[in-house]
Amino acid sequence: MVSAVIDNGREAYCGIRAETARYHTATVPNRGLIRIAGAGPSGLAAAIILARAGREVEVHEAKGDVGTRFIGDLQIIEGASESESVPAFLDRLGIERNFYFRAADWATFYDHKNAARVIRSKQPYGWFIHRGAEERTLDRGLLAQAQRAGATVIFNSRLAPDQADIVATGPASPDGLAKEMTWHVGPRESGVGTRSSDRDQQSSDTRHPTPDTRERIDVYFNHKLSPGGYSYLFILDGVATFGCAIVADFKQIDSYFDHSLAAAQRLHHFDVPADARTGYSYMNFHLKHAATSNGARFVGEAAGFQDYLFGLGIRYALTSGSLAARSIIEDRDYDELWRSELGAKQQTSLVNRFLYESGGNFGLSMFVRQASRAKDFHHYLSGWHRTTWWKSLLSPVVRRVWKHEGRCQHKPGPHWCRSRDTHLQVPPLGPVQKR
Ligand SMILES: Cc1cc2nc3c(=O)[nH]c(=O)nc-3n(C[C@H](O)[C@H](O)[C@H](O)COP(=O)(O)OP(=O)(O)OC[C@H]3O[C@@H](n4cnc5c(N)ncnc54)[C@H](O)[C@@H]3O)c2cc1C
Repeated sequence: MVSAVIDNGREAYCGIRAETARYHTATVPNRGLIRIAGAGPSGLAAAIILARAGREVEVHEAKGDVGTRFIGDLQIIEGASESESVPAFLDRLGIERNFYFRAADWATFYDHKNAARVIRSKQPYGWFIHRGAEERTLDRGLLAQAQRAGATVIFNSRLAPDQADIVATGPASPDGLAKEMTWHVGPRESGVGTRSSDRDQQSSDTRHPTPDTRERIDVYFNHKLSPGGYSYLFILDGVATFGCAIVADFKQIDSYFDHSLAAAQRLHHFDVPADARTGYSYMNFHLKHAATSNGARFVGEAAGFQDYLFGLGIRYALTSGSLAARSIIEDRDYDELWRSELGAKQQTSLVNRFLYESGGNFGLSMFVRQASRAKDFHHYLSGWHRTTWWKSLLSPVVRRVWKHEGRCQHKPGPHWCRSRDTHLQVPPLGPVQKR
């Protein structure tokens, strides 16, 4: 029966009734081989923890390597959604930093009028890492740790959910889409031109020293050029990534990317070399009462775990993977574990996304202004992640207004996901204006 229900005021589902979900709570036997489908951060975090606890672990990866949906791009493990810092979080999980790992405590944010504002943080608001099938990426680092711990990783092997104890297969349907380019920059050429407006803003900000202009952490907030999302230019330690992430009008991703890139190039005069790598990838977000089905625990984006505000899923992936492992080791209910650590957080991120989109470009300008005025951006961003009484009240309203009815590809079962009809309506963009 297709219907929407509110379960204790917490969860609205599309699909079947909430009561049905409770029958699927995991009861995987506590002994024997553990099979994990997917060698992304969620699957590998689970594998590392289980193997270190002495469990026999087999990870099946559909592709010939880890991280193949990424291109060596710079991504960030966000540090503001929890009071625990990213290094402390990784230490607690027992994950070593055998990958590129660099603190982010500054950035430049731009609004739709190209006003540049410098952001500073007393403690890092996140840590940059690389993703992909190459050395020093998070993916290769986690793979090495899983193998060293004794897990067997089998490549080119696809598992169906009913063959796995842990399903870590990543996103199944696009709730957000990104196009990215990544290229290498030599130490001398890595400097991109800086317009006087940027310099004025930076140098007039007396609270902080001017950042090294050979490196950039730029984020462009403009619903016209990246509807519902943002675009970004990161240049750090000789690697550049330009990306455009959107949550609406997916068919036009190339056009949004081209417009966003041209706008950034008009500001900074940088070139993208012909050998730059290009990638497209999508992300999942949905809410559920149970992330278990027929004894399998769903983790990471396969379970819709994601910070919906900015589409950041790595911390969720590592957390949910570790909780699935813990539920097996300690013979605990995985659904109870993730609900207590991630449940409220996901609801808050849905409300944040609603606010992000509802405020339009005016709201984004305010966000950029407030972020730059904050003495500590980490503290400011933490405020967004905090579950407040008014966000808890707003959450069921957003779920009702944005609710998708009928079939979709999200797994593992009854859940709430967003209707496409509620996405931002955006006017067509004209021709790309090159500098
Ligand atoms: C362009 C882009 C930029 C992003 N930037 C950030 C960022 O800066 N910070 C952040 O926190 N998040 C970011 N994200 C999101 C983040 O990358 C994901 O949330 C994270 O990778 C999810 O990890 P996962 O383990 O759930 O899935 P994945 O990383 O997708 O891994 C799933 C793995 O499972 C494999 N697989 C699939 N099906 C099967 C099967 N049936 N059997 C076996 N194996 C299978 C896949 O090949 C894949 O290797 C970004 C996403 C995109 C697309």
